[in-house]
Amino acid sequence: MEEGQRALPAGSSGEVVDIARRYNERIVRTRHHQPLFRSAVIYAYQRRCAVCRLPFAELLDAAHVKADADGGAANVTNGLALCKIHHGPFDVNILGISPDYVVHVRQSVLETFDGPTLQHAIKEMNGEHLRQLPAARGERPDRDLLAERFETFQAAS
Ligand SMILES: [Zn+2]
Repeated sequence: MEEGQRALPAGSSGEVVDIARRYNERIVRTRHHQPLFRSAVIYAYQRRCAVCRLPFAELLDAAHVKADADGGAANVTNGLALCKIHHGPFDVNILGISPDYVVHVRQSVLETFDGPTLQHAIKEMNGEHLRQLPAARGERPDRDLLAERFETFQAAS
């Protein structure tokens, strides 16, 4: 950083330092909020996967509907408790969730035949309503955020 700053034209280093400072603050803020977000989301879903109801907290993640990197807030309504089997496909748009809380599996994946995990854990979720949602309506996934995310899923399909 110091080496790089010395090479910068006069007058611009202050700005660079400011950007670096803000970036570091953001990382600290994100890291600080991450465990809180995770526990709040997993608690709201009663320690079950929203898609399949798998009841092992050790295998659950708090997935963001709108990614943290895209400015998604660390609110329960921007989260979904997803097991390891469903978090990955959700992140890469193999699995999408529409604003009416229905699971959709990418068409090309539905047309693929390969073993029990794909068949039972992924493909059979297609068209199913989310099996686990927070009891409190105010903690359920924000439908606007889901709609925005679902467009990405559809564009990737
Ligand atoms: Zn699951």
